[in-house]
Amino acid sequence: MFVGHYSMSFAGKAAEPRIPLWLLFIAVQFVDVLWAIFVLLGIEKVRIVPGITATSPLDLYYMPYTHSLVGAIGWSLLAFVVCQLVPNLRGSRTGWIVALAVFSHWVLDLLVHRPDMPLYDSTFKMGFSLWNYRIAAFVVELVVLLGGAALYLRAASRKGRISTFVLILVVVHVYGTFFFPPPPSDRAIALTALSFYTVLALIAWWADPGQQTNAYQS
Ligand SMILES: [Zn+2]
Repeated sequence: MFVGHYSMSFAGKAAEPRIPLWLLFIAVQFVDVLWAIFVLLGIEKVRIVPGITATSPLDLYYMPYTHSLVGAIGWSLLAFVVCQLVPNLRGSRTGWIVALAVFSHWVLDLLVHRPDMPLYDSTFKMGFSLWNYRIAAFVVELVVLLGGAALYLRAASRKGRISTFVLILVVVHVYGTFFFPPPPSDRAIALTALSFYTVLALIAWWADPGQQTNAYQS
């Protein structure tokens, strides 16, 4: 899953407007940001196998640190702790919302992945394989994204930029599902993923103009 993860960013922002939207954009993809870095470092492994699912050509055969259940829980707890170190984010409510945003990545990935997500280390792999059904995967991810965005838009005072941003995410989703060619290598997909996560977090920063003032309120 890709843009669907951002549903949880919008939901988190609706629940606690004090948390910058860009931070929640990083949080929901934190596990994948680490995955891309670990792939580049050779710590986790992926190979490109066109047709391995109807939607994604990634054979994610070794990712014990980022996409195991134990790993995801660990990264989520780390996010909670880091929030307590940042004055503007201190507090159990903000901490748990950011931690849940991080953990939501694993839950949503579980829906779409092949059984390649381990319980711990590289064993007891799980995944409901929705990626085998391209249209169903497309629709479910779109509904998830728009559901979270609607939660935030209902509460947001300035809807213009957020609406534009949601439209951009829908376009990315259509392109990613139907037009994105199989990447040439594991390093290429890792770098592409990192670039998308960075650019979308920057657009989230642009789209959420309230955050600059919120971020500096105690
Ligand atoms: Zn993932």
